[in-house]
Amino acid sequence: MDCTDFRTAISARVDGEALPPEVPDAVLDAHLPRCPRCREWARRVWRLRQLTARVAGC
Ligand SMILES: [Zn+2]
Repeated sequence: MDCTDFRTAISARVDGEALPPEVPDAVLDAHLPRCPRCREWARRVWRLRQLTARVAGC
């Protein structure tokens, strides 16, 4: 399992979708504190999501 799998899971979480079966919540939560790159990526995805939500008015 590499960071690509975790990023797929992060974007699913941000979108409010189910996480991939190979990356359950506990596994993702264990990875983030250890991986600055995924943390940074998650931060950017959240920000983008917030901007998109604002534009869409929801
Ligand atoms: Zn990572």
